[in-house]
Amino acid sequence: MLSIGRGPWDGVHRIVSRIRQRGSRRVFCNKGRDGRCRSARLTAPKEFVGEMAYVVLERELEELSTLIDSLSAMREFFSALLNSKKGAKMFSIVSETWNPVTGCPHGCVYCWARRLATTKLRNTERYREGFVSRFNPKELRRTFSDGVVFVSDMGDLFANTVKDEWIRRVIEYVGRFPNVFFLFLTKNPERYRDFLGEFPPNSILGATIETDDDDLYLEHRISAAPLPSNRYRAMRSLSWPLKFISIEPILDFSTERFAGWLRDIAPFMVYVGYDNYDNRLPEPPLKKTKELLARLSEFTLVIRKTIRPAWFEGLQGYSELTVGRSAMNERGRRGKLRKV
Ligand code: SF4
Repeated sequence: MLSIGRGPWDGVHRIVSRIRQRGSRRVFCNKGRDGRCRSARLTAPKEFVGEMAYVVLERELEELSTLIDSLSAMREFFSALLNSKKGAKMFSIVSETWNPVTGCPHGCVYCWARRLATTKLRNTERYREGFVSRFNPKELRRTFSDGVVFVSDMGDLFANTVKDEWIRRVIEYVGRFPNVFFLFLTKNPERYRDFLGEFPPNSILGATIETDDDDLYLEHRISAAPLPSNRYRAMRSLSWPLKFISIEPILDFSTERFAGWLRDIAPFMVYVGYDNYDNRLPEPPLKKTKELLARLSEFTLVIRKTIRPAWFEGLQGYSELTVGRSAMNERGRRGKLRKV
């Protein structure tokens, strides 16, 4: 007879896997209203007699497996990074950028890449037609030795204007460098699903989610990309061990909800940073961002980028108690919020 109980997660996986490996068996579970087991009967091989077992629901077991996959992928990631020649620069994480696809249709108000492409680089082959999605086959001659490569920092590889074939060629090329991690970042993470069976394990699948506030996003016409809530849902349902979220440039948010989103997504790493280009975005006050940073640090690796007071916090007469977000938004509407 086995004793049945609920207890710490470690041990659960070990015992359940052992039972499964030995060819067993069935767990009969009487569930309560909350879906949890109230009582259970387990048939297991003889050698388990006298052992303690824990009853877990399938869903709980799946969550546990995902967590274990994530932890082992993280271990590989950091071990490869720390042992790479560029590991000394780990504080910057990304060792180089690679642009097999450039251009983007999302039109974010703060986009430095579009600004660069349409000014300094406007007469180059890549940007003569503007900041439109374009495949650069010459980039598939590049080689990589180690570190983390940021893919397409001059565009969005998963924008709807990018052909499936281009994405497939990039993914296939990434698989040729198993000792290098490739960081993908998009504002259209729903499209990851279409290629999920094709990404090699050295892929880090990332999404930018600057806020949890769709209304704020629309009100300030931040971007034509899928709304933050859409990106959140896509990343939450994405089953991949190395997920990454960039909260950059950070926009105002609801602390509880935004932290909850990030917990649901379960990224192994999060970037957080304010806008670097004085775009007068609807930013959160520094104190609020620090609270979010503390919340996120409870469950993920947080990389702090530019962390500073919001642009309006330095304005004469600003007071956290009396001004707050609505006044900041009002200042933005009065023309401080510049469109690129
Ligand atoms: S998604 Fe990225 S590349 Fe595209 S417009 Fe926005 S900031 Fe620029």
